[in-house]
Amino acid sequence: MNILLLGAPGAGKGTQAELLAEHLHIPHVASGDLFREALRSDTPLGREAKGYIDRGELVPDAVTIAMVRERLAAPDSREGVILDGFPRTIEQARALDEVLAEQRQKVDLVAFIRVRPDELLKRLSGRWTCRDCGGVYHTLYNPPQRPGVCDACGGALYQRPDDRPETQSRRIEVYLAQTSPLVEHYRRRRVLVEIDGEQDIARVQDDLRKAVTGKQQAKA
Ligand code: ADP
Ligand code: ADP
Ligand code: ZN
Repeated sequence: MNILLLGAPGAGKGTQAELLAEHLHIPHVASGDLFREALRSDTPLGREAKGYIDRGELVPDAVTIAMVRERLAAPDSREGVILDGFPRTIEQARALDEVLAEQRQKVDLVAFIRVRPDELLKRLSGRWTCRDCGGVYHTLYNPPQRPGVCDACGGALYQRPDDRPETQSRRIEVYLAQTSPLVEHYRRRRVLVEIDGEQDIARVQDDLRKAVTGKQQAKA
């Protein structure tokens, strides 16, 4: 099954994708994490993406699509993946259809995690990310057991530079302008399920798993 998590910055895509990936035993593919890895390793891809990420804008489609295409060619993607943060434009959605069609696959389910803008800002402001495994925490909503230390791997937690207040609001604007049209795009294709992202993490995960089970039964 190929599942997309769609939602604004801070909606909880990464948090939910991680839990769902463990449950379904398929990889969690996050375009933002792929970019951050490239930035850290100072690769040509990382250097190309840096300015856009720092400004809270989207990295150009061609670059992003090539990166995700390569990730989806890896053998572990064959049984399906959970995509988090990709596609973010209609152009990327078209490219994804092509890539999946080449592997005789398709987008099976798009979960749109809905959260209001004022709540998004609170989430981004309190987000702490693990340098080593990409795990996500929140100072109030999902604190680590020891401040500054990742529960999963012991890595150091940091605040993403693009979670600063100036970039936060820019990213939400960019989401509304360029990514939110994907909600209607996938609704028309009848693969969209809308999930109330303002519930606690466990409830959102419950709703997500129910949506997946519903799809699996429909497919069988
Ligand atoms: P968030 O957690 O806020 O949803 P991500 O970690 O997914 O953010 O993305 C961080 C940044 O990486 C984005 O602001 C953008 O610059 C870049 N990025 C990630 N995914 C994409 C994509 N699909 N298309 C273009 N740029 C992307
Ligand atoms: P996204 O990947 O969509 O940008 P994240 O999963 O990184 O979102 O979550 C953004 C922040 O909100 C993180 O600090 C995370 O711990 C927190 N968070 C995620 N889901 C919830 C939730 N349901 N309730 C409260 N806080 C949440
Ligand atoms: Zn970690």
